[in-house]
Amino acid sequence: MTQNSFTHHCRQEADTTALAQKLALSLNHLFLSNHSAHLNISLEGDLGAGKTTFARHLIQSMGYEGRVKSPTYTLCEPYSIHIKSSDPHQSGSITAHHFDLYRMRDPLEWQEAGFAEHFDEPGFCLVEWPEKAEDTLPAFDIEIHLIAGDDENERRITLKAISSQGQSVLDKAHSQ
Ligand code: ADP
Ligand code: MG
Repeated sequence: MTQNSFTHHCRQEADTTALAQKLALSLNHLFLSNHSAHLNISLEGDLGAGKTTFARHLIQSMGYEGRVKSPTYTLCEPYSIHIKSSDPHQSGSITAHHFDLYRMRDPLEWQEAGFAEHFDEPGFCLVEWPEKAEDTLPAFDIEIHLIAGDDENERRITLKAISSQGQSVLDKAHSQ
């Protein structure tokens, strides 16, 4: 049977960074082979669990060189990422939309803000606090759950594939 859920015990932030890097490599591989691919990824866990930290390392590991700040007040921050390949003809750009829905007052506020179109643009959506949208979001390909451990810097991070596209991304990330 295919393994669709992978749990990682991260003892320090560097372990979380390394995990985000593995996922970044796999996503870059997908986008280089299909420039119009789109993925939805959720980031779930309590305040301070490390959702924004994971998103920051993921976006920067994919090649984004600027600052990745928390979208707490804006609900959504876009990042244009140029994915480089050793073959310059293969290189291409995609957009990552990083959401934090914690402050939404209404489950449909994300639609009223005009964000629906981002859920099928080439690239991917990373959504913190998807539960605030109460099942009104498009389906996720991958769910990421972060849980704090006993130690201050310890986290348990589970990556779960929901779609077949999500499964191939996670398989590739875990084969490196
Ligand atoms: P969230 O977005 O889930 O509310 P943040 O990413 O903003 O959480 O904050 C997580 C905090 O925990 C950051 O200050 C980060 O430096 C710290 N941290 C410590 N250890 C880890 C770890 N192993 N993984 C992720 N973050 C960690
Ligand atoms: Mg956050």
